[in-house]
This record gives sequence, structure tokens and C-alpha cells, in this order.
Amino acid sequence: MIEALIRTIPDYPKPGVQFRDITTLLQDRQGFAAAIDALSLHYTSHAFDKVLAIESRGFIVGAALAIQLGAGFVPARKPGKLPAATISQSYTLEYGMDALELHKDAIQPGERVLLVDDLIATGGTAMAAVALVRQLGGLLAHATFIVDLPDLGGMQRLQSAGIRGFALCQFE
Ligand code: 5GP
Repeated sequence: MIEALIRTIPDYPKPGVQFRDITTLLQDRQGFAAAIDALSLHYTSHAFDKVLAIESRGFIVGAALAIQLGAGFVPARKPGKLPAATISQSYTLEYGMDALELHKDAIQPGERVLLVDDLIATGGTAMAAVALVRQLGGLLAHATFIVDLPDLGGMQRLQSAGIRGFALCQFE
């Protein structure tokens, strides 16, 4: 059901890319709720202090999930967007280079963190977030997504960093 609500846009943002558009899932009241319920159900036997979500579609999923899981919410943002002291990590993504920043005081040493984004492809974005959390002493053992693109190997990259990944659906 969730898979059927995700729209595919050919040649976006560049020729040859099949963009998986989750806005069609978000705008469906039952679909959005079902997605958040399914993600939170997956973590009923876990306890997290913080949900860390990646700008910007990750915020939509992560904020809803943080409330359901009873965790605080931490945004990982693009450079220059966070107002207080930050740490930064650059990474390679499907369409070029970018960086993510975290407030230095967003995560305390020993806090259990769940990483959230809308989609994992190569895993470059997620691995940058992992590096930031670990730099602050946070414990990051789980990462969750609406969509996994398994051909691009992101889940395997997470696994080799000791992180268990989960996604609601996969697209070839
Ligand atoms: P990765 O770093 O794993 O290669 O790419 C994942 C990041 O790029 C995520 O933050 C995700 O939002 C974005 N992204 C890459 N491809 C797509 C796509 O087809 N659909 C959506 N919704 N996001 C994508």
C-alpha cells in the first residue's frame, strides 16, 4: 500500500534518474499515518533518547516518529542553517557533494539515537549523519527510512558500520 502511494518522476533532478517522490504518500491521510505507525511499530522493543533526521524530507518523517516513540528530535541540516555552534561532515551523494551539520549540544555522550530519512540510496548522506552522531558520543545502532534503493548499496554500508537499517519498501 505504501509503495503504491509513492510516485516515480523520470529524469528528475537530472536525466536518467528515477526520483521516488514521497509527497504523494504524505498527502494521503491514511497513507502517511500508516507509514509512521509501521515505522514506530518496528521499534516498540527499543528505547531512543533522540531521533536524528536529515534535511529536509527526513524532518517530516522524523518529527512524527519522534513523537510516537517518545524521543526528542534533532535536525541534521545543510551548511549554515543552524544558529548555534556546530560540527560538520561533508559527503558524496547521488547528485554531487554536500555537507551536514549538527548542533554540538544536540546529543549528549551515551544517548541512544535513531537515524531517520525518507530514502536511502548510496548511504552517503546517512553515513555523514552517523559520523556526526558518533563524534558527539551518541550511540547510533539503528537507521530507518520509508524507501530503500537496494541496488545502490546504502543498507550494506550502514551494516558494515554496525547499524541495523530498516525500510518500509524497496524500489529496484
Ligand atoms: P544517498 O546519500 O543515500 O545516496 O541519498 C539519499 C539522500 O538523497 C536522502 O537524503 C534522500 O532524501 C535523497 N534522495 C536521493 N534520491 C532520492 C529519491 O529518488 N527520492 C527521494 N525522495 N529522495 C532521494
